[in-house]
Amino acid sequence: MLPVTSRRRGVLALTVVLLLLTWRSVAGQGTIFTIISPAGRRSLAATAVHGHEMFALNDLAAAFQLNVQADTLGAITISYKGKTIILTPDQNLASVNGRIVSLATAPTRSNQQWFVPVELVNQALAPIYGERLELRADSHLILEGNVTAPRAPEPAPTPAAPAAPVQPAPARPAPSQPAAPATPPPSLGTPQPTISTIVIDPGHGGSDKGVQGPHGTLEKDITMAVARRLKCAIEGRLGIRVLLSRDGAETLSADARAALANNTKADLFISLHATASFRTDTSGAEIFSLGLDRDAAQASATASSSAQQLPVTGGGSRQVEIVPWQFAQTRFVDQSKTLADLIEQQFKGHVPLDGRAITQAPLRVLVGANMPAVLVEMGYLSNADQENELGTGNFQNAIVQALYGAIVQFRDTLNTRAKATAQGGGAR
Ligand SMILES: [Zn+2]
Repeated sequence: MLPVTSRRRGVLALTVVLLLLTWRSVAGQGTIFTIISPAGRRSLAATAVHGHEMFALNDLAAAFQLNVQADTLGAITISYKGKTIILTPDQNLASVNGRIVSLATAPTRSNQQWFVPVELVNQALAPIYGERLELRADSHLILEGNVTAPRAPEPAPTPAAPAAPVQPAPARPAPSQPAAPATPPPSLGTPQPTISTIVIDPGHGGSDKGVQGPHGTLEKDITMAVARRLKCAIEGRLGIRVLLSRDGAETLSADARAALANNTKADLFISLHATASFRTDTSGAEIFSLGLDRDAAQASATASSSAQQLPVTGGGSRQVEIVPWQFAQTRFVDQSKTLADLIEQQFKGHVPLDGRAITQAPLRVLVGANMPAVLVEMGYLSNADQENELGTGNFQNAIVQALYGAIVQFRDTLNTRAKATAQGGGAR
């Protein structure tokens, strides 16, 4: 760790003062939060944006050594030591290490800068921070690490003032250098809607074998074989990043699979399965997207979020608003149905379809996905003919080709819609 010279400290302080002066003249009334850490105190300015107390994202990033990246799709990724928060402009849902969290208010852009609600510190940053981080809005304090907070807010210390009554932890190294100069604001132009990441979920795996055919073919092996072929086809031909929810033998819960998709900012989630029936002659593929009847959707919207205790690294737990899993997919029900329709069209003539073909159902693996998501039952392993087919490269390739075609069409649909929105002006 590099020692910071007093000269550098002086330059930093001057920079901060100048920045604050500039910022105050632009933003009007603001408040200053004091960050108290074992290493000392530093300041972080907040301002009222649309009536809500917010931090400029760049200031927050500089204060806590966060890496901020804006991608072409408009999402903002905040990362810290390998953990991520993903924000979507003007939406109050954030992904915090894969979990969907309901923010106090949506990130918003003002004066060429992104602003985030001050509560983000407790709701999103603290759970990934690795040590205690606590924002006390009333007293305008942020406590970092092992410190004791003063009883009441104190005026910012003047240069001549004695050291503030901060109790450093006995054997703890200073967690961070003083804030580095702010990085330039993420420049987000017109969002360029496209699909950049797809998560393919080979159903089952590990001790969870899925269904088994009369000749012993296991669902978990078929789903993995098709997933690998699909990954090759998409990455090779479309240049889209494809992640598999499992590499091999892991046993993963449905929620863990959706969380992986959320945390990698996937634009599409496709879960692959094969099914079975007591009737050995039943055959054909079936495509599922999440179905919510109007009442259920409304109920989940009303319930909106529930408070949960999230364990915090370093001990303790934290009350965080978590959006119920079913709420994540609710926003994508229509898009997911569109994708399911496209897959059905592509399967026709190439992959035999079950009589029902398309079904909307409340499937656990789909409900938590914060992106368009479908589940494909590729065929019936209980049918000996289909079991043989599903094991062949030809049949697997036919499925891959059809899914590939549907993904291309779906991407075109999204692009067309986005262009129309952009031309219509006032795209948000
Ligand atoms: Zn299955």
